[in-house]
Amino acid sequence: MKLTGIEMRRIRMPLVAPFRTSFGTETERDVLLLRAVTDEAEGWGECVAMSDPLYSSEYVEAAADVLRRYLVPALAARPPAAATAVAPALQRFKGHRMAKAALETAVLDAELRGSGRSFARELGATRERVPCGVSVGIMDSVPALLDAVGGYLAQGYVRIKLKIEPGWDVAPVRAVRERFGDEVLLQVDANTAYTVGDAPLLAALDPFGLLLIEQPLDEEDVLGHVELSRRVRTPICLDESIVSARAAADAIRLGACSIINVKPGRVGGYLEARRIHDVCAANGIPVWCGGMLETGLGRAANVALAALPGFTLPGDTSASDRYFRTDVTAPFVLEDGHLPVPAGPGLGVEPIPEILAEITTASEWLPL
Ligand SMILES: [Mg+2]
Repeated sequence: MKLTGIEMRRIRMPLVAPFRTSFGTETERDVLLLRAVTDEAEGWGECVAMSDPLYSSEYVEAAADVLRRYLVPALAARPPAAATAVAPALQRFKGHRMAKAALETAVLDAELRGSGRSFARELGATRERVPCGVSVGIMDSVPALLDAVGGYLAQGYVRIKLKIEPGWDVAPVRAVRERFGDEVLLQVDANTAYTVGDAPLLAALDPFGLLLIEQPLDEEDVLGHVELSRRVRTPICLDESIVSARAAADAIRLGACSIINVKPGRVGGYLEARRIHDVCAANGIPVWCGGMLETGLGRAANVALAALPGFTLPGDTSASDRYFRTDVTAPFVLEDGHLPVPAGPGLGVEPIPEILAEITTASEWLPL
């Protein structure tokens, strides 16, 4: 395989409804897509960085800049014969995992399409469909939340995740339990909004039988999570803190978490995400696949990853219409609470050219 260039394409997709978390509110998704062109095939990678550095230090403009200035030139200097050579070629540049992940994914997709292999098979998937949860943002009122949760349950989602923050935690959880019962698989995500001093407050969630509390404390506060996991019965799950397989192994060893959310963009790509899966499987730690409001391209890869055997909890791999009225690919549609794992070469889905053209705001060709 010979890589000839990378196209960077910015697209803008309005969300069906504002999505509020403890770090901010989003109303549209500004996405950087990469198209890797090789002598054999083309592949796509979606950068999950958000518009602003609020979920993590990365943001779309910075991802575009580092790709243009450092990452793509590094591949030009050391052209990768396979996707496994991408991460080593980029290693000397610190951080920027979401940008690196997008580049590796685009090259991997091109490689797999060129040889007729699917993402799912390449990663080691063992299932043909995956159970889907949904992430429910912070709402203006409890009645509005109950309406939203009721709607998602009616659509068939098998697990509900509530975004929480100080002032929006115990009351919404109690309200959802009272309305929908104890059988609903329910978990919460704080996106780093609490401190270890909030342990008594977070322990007040224990009676509600949650699957987990996701990333209650700052991403660097690993020892705080150790302390918290001793004082709270609900299992602690880490998201933002887990930036690599090494970070996962350390957090597990320290007892900072008993569940891990895997997001390929956050950890530098799907190959590293698979390593985290393997580390967790070796330690008996369940994993599940998070979401970053991906289009159908990123969603396809996430669904493939979520089909690996260690992904024993439903992920945030929701249907396309959870976020977008029109997806850039054929939409992912919920079937009995599940999404089918694409089986075609590479990601198994392609952007629809007319839709892609309509939502593109900028494009740039970076030759190798
Ligand atoms: Mg999270």
